[in-house]
Amino acid sequence: MKKLSIGIIDLVAKAPTQTMWMRVMGPNFVSIMPQVVAMWCEEHGHDVTLVTYTGRENLLKDLPPEVDLVFISSFTEAALLSYALSNLFRSRGAVTALGGPHARCYPQDAQKYFDYVLGFTDKALIHDMLRDCAPHRPIGLNPSAKHHPVELPGVGKRWKFIEQTLRKAPLIKIVPLLSSLGCPYTCDFCIDSSVPFQPLDEEVMKEDLRFLLSKLKRPRVAWHDPNFGVRFDRCMNAIEEAVPPGRIDFIAESTLSLLSESRVKRLKRNGFKALLPGIESWFEMGKKSNTGTMTGMEKVRRVSHHVNMILRHIPYVQTNHIFGLDGDEGSAPFGLTKRFLDLSPGAFPAYSMLSAFGQAAPLNLEFQRENRVLPFPFHFLSNIQMNIKPRNYTWVEFYDHLIDVTKYSYSPRLIVKRFRANGETIPRWLNVIRGFSSERFGRVKYFSEVRRRLIGDRQFRGFFEQETTEIPQFYVDRIRTDLGHFWPWLPEGAIRHDPNAYLNSQAKACA
Ligand code: SF4
Repeated sequence: MKKLSIGIIDLVAKAPTQTMWMRVMGPNFVSIMPQVVAMWCEEHGHDVTLVTYTGRENLLKDLPPEVDLVFISSFTEAALLSYALSNLFRSRGAVTALGGPHARCYPQDAQKYFDYVLGFTDKALIHDMLRDCAPHRPIGLNPSAKHHPVELPGVGKRWKFIEQTLRKAPLIKIVPLLSSLGCPYTCDFCIDSSVPFQPLDEEVMKEDLRFLLSKLKRPRVAWHDPNFGVRFDRCMNAIEEAVPPGRIDFIAESTLSLLSESRVKRLKRNGFKALLPGIESWFEMGKKSNTGTMTGMEKVRRVSHHVNMILRHIPYVQTNHIFGLDGDEGSAPFGLTKRFLDLSPGAFPAYSMLSAFGQAAPLNLEFQRENRVLPFPFHFLSNIQMNIKPRNYTWVEFYDHLIDVTKYSYSPRLIVKRFRANGETIPRWLNVIRGFSSERFGRVKYFSEVRRRLIGDRQFRGFFEQETTEIPQFYVDRIRTDLGHFWPWLPEGAIRHDPNAYLNSQAKACA
């Protein structure tokens, strides 16, 4: 096989950014798979350049000018940047491949702009792609392994790629690790709900932790498992065997139902500094928050009690909430969230809106069948843009509630209360930076602008009300500004997509 020059781009950001939050934390949001793919490519003797884009680099300058193959890993929010990059690199003769969440959520759309759009990706699939490495146009191939890889190369093997990213982080340097893939829970909106839970080899886990201790004075590790600690004792035993107490700080996302006090104490002993439990709703999903059939204020009190217990042991707790669920109605979901913050001022709330990301979750078929999914340009499809018409709210009502709860949650008063409630220096300041720079100013400004236009701009409102599919000029202008010198490379028509592509692909498969 010819030796290839391969560029791998991990898109952490969708556009240039100067926010303090991204400056401090951006390089810590890298994905593991681009590093793994880089290693698999090197194993075959190819030259690899890995570039992480956090919104502060010059992407084109960082990549070698002549590459045979460019592999881009992208969330949906950065999809338009990835499409423009693919177009540019194809014009220079490169073959292009897309991986990451966007490739799994919107393969039909991405195939128009990439030669390969990768589903589940394992070593054999990458090696087949490298052997083929040919243009597939106008519609790219969509290969997929049966499931996630059963093993991943350890940190030692990926170290040179990890190290180059850590160098970008000015203050807080975090290494991403995995102890499992998939999740045994079945929250119907979640991309991991249909991925079978699969623990990874704990010997590799121990080796990784020992390796980090040999390289860094005080490592910080973020477990990228969708739900850390499903096999709690197994994970804790591995950590206790490999890491002397207090030598590594850990961050993990875990459901409340896994976090009993005895477990939280053990997590504390083992250096866990931040936990991110999902609460999602005050009216649903009682199983994962360990609240059974409780709803409303009763659930708020129970969850708050649980979160405050965790905060007595763990200095940073981020609680995840979803707004706009079909079961939500009136002001109650928002008002109850405010009450929760009053009862648990130390928790940092992270809000998402219900969104249907292509074929991420089977529930999206329902929304598409009901014709409730709006063709929002991918550039805005993050957790702050709901692309499903709410069942029980008008858009203006929904944004009124959203602005109110966001202002309340990141008000100077609550930021100060949170600061006082958090026990350690780094979590305290992270809460302040995030509260002011990303949440309060970023989100409230965006939501207020959307609300203003819903009232005063007929075309804008018409798009939200599904009277037209014409993308509002407001969004087109923002994309043009964000993409900057990549805008001319955005392929014709790429800002539009079929919001029902998943449903239509199922219909075709059955025909
Ligand atoms: S518990 Fe979390 S990771 Fe698991 S399916 Fe539910 S939302 Fe997804």
